[in-house]
Amino acid sequence: MKTVPSRPYLLLTPGPLTTSDGVKEAMLKDWCTWDEDYNQLVQDLRCRLLSLLNGDMSRYTTVLMQGSGTFVVESVVGSMMPENGKLLVLANGAYGDRIATIARTLRIETIVQRAHDVEIPDLTLFEQALSRDRSITHVAAVHVETTTGILNPVAAIAKIAKRHNKLLLIDSMSGLGGIDMDISGMDIDYVVSSANKCIQGVPGFGFAIVKKDELAKCEGRARSHSLDLYDQWIQMEKGKGKWRFTSPTHVVRAFYQALLELEKEGGIPARETRYRNNCRIVREGMERLGFKPVIPEQYQSIIITSFYPPQHPAYHFPRFYQELKKRGFVIYPGKLTEAETFRIGHIGDIYEDDMHQFIRAVEESMYWTN
Ligand SMILES: *Cc1c(COP(=O)(O)O)cnc(C)c1O
Repeated sequence: MKTVPSRPYLLLTPGPLTTSDGVKEAMLKDWCTWDEDYNQLVQDLRCRLLSLLNGDMSRYTTVLMQGSGTFVVESVVGSMMPENGKLLVLANGAYGDRIATIARTLRIETIVQRAHDVEIPDLTLFEQALSRDRSITHVAAVHVETTTGILNPVAAIAKIAKRHNKLLLIDSMSGLGGIDMDISGMDIDYVVSSANKCIQGVPGFGFAIVKKDELAKCEGRARSHSLDLYDQWIQMEKGKGKWRFTSPTHVVRAFYQALLELEKEGGIPARETRYRNNCRIVREGMERLGFKPVIPEQYQSIIITSFYPPQHPAYHFPRFYQELKKRGFVIYPGKLTEAETFRIGHIGDIYEDDMHQFIRAVEESMYWTN
């Protein structure tokens, strides 16, 4: 008899997020990490992922890497930068800052163009920085800054970076799979994401969609043995789906199931529509109840929305959080340092009805006098 774990509550968080029963069920089998069946599944997964994301098979490849999303960012940063490279990071939140921290920890020369958390990067400044400092070799930017849910203008950033012949890394951790992105059309060199965000798998590994001819130049550049992206790629190619070191087999199996479910849903356009709808219901419902969104509507992504609390003496976040949890919803505390905010994710195996129910739960949970 199979037992499928139930859902004690829905995770309205940006990963780990609520997964389907099918995804959870896929983990109920043990898979050998060296076996041919498993390796074939890995190869199939790499192909399907690239094709779902509209990656050009002749120019791009998929490399999987153990660890959470940050490990993959670190793997790419540490493997792509040549010894004398210089990285410009466009940051407007914690994840942009983290890319810079990773690069500096690896002793990579790094400059940061930091915008305020609620603003998108200043593209004029960006262009000026590239014109002024010819020693910059690479640019890194974040697609959806999950800190706030702000959507950064990736296409415009890519255009400028490419006009100046810079290599470009996009952290699309919380965007890829949920927002259509023309990776090859924008000529992005490295895109990073992870299993437990919009593809709706469980945490345990991440992946990079990479231009093959660029990755081929990265031999020997890695600053870490276990996070060597080039070597992982070569071994996956040579071993036809074999990972260097133990792979998270159950997580990979769950991810494969999640990919099939994404295809069945109608691919990224259908998923994007569902997330957009979730986002709209939450934003409208919360505004009606007196919660003000942090990000202006024109920059708001469909992935996650940050809200300011209502100015009311009977509102206390810890109580609000607990009451929501009792009613079956877990939300995400804010990450902004300057203001008390919280976040509500719109991604995962969650639907319109869940969102309406959530708004009713918020109405019941927001004010407590005892
Ligand atoms: C989730 C996320 C990451 C990675 O976070 P992990 O906790 O390491 O998985 C990186 N960048 C962005 C934009 C994210 O949303």
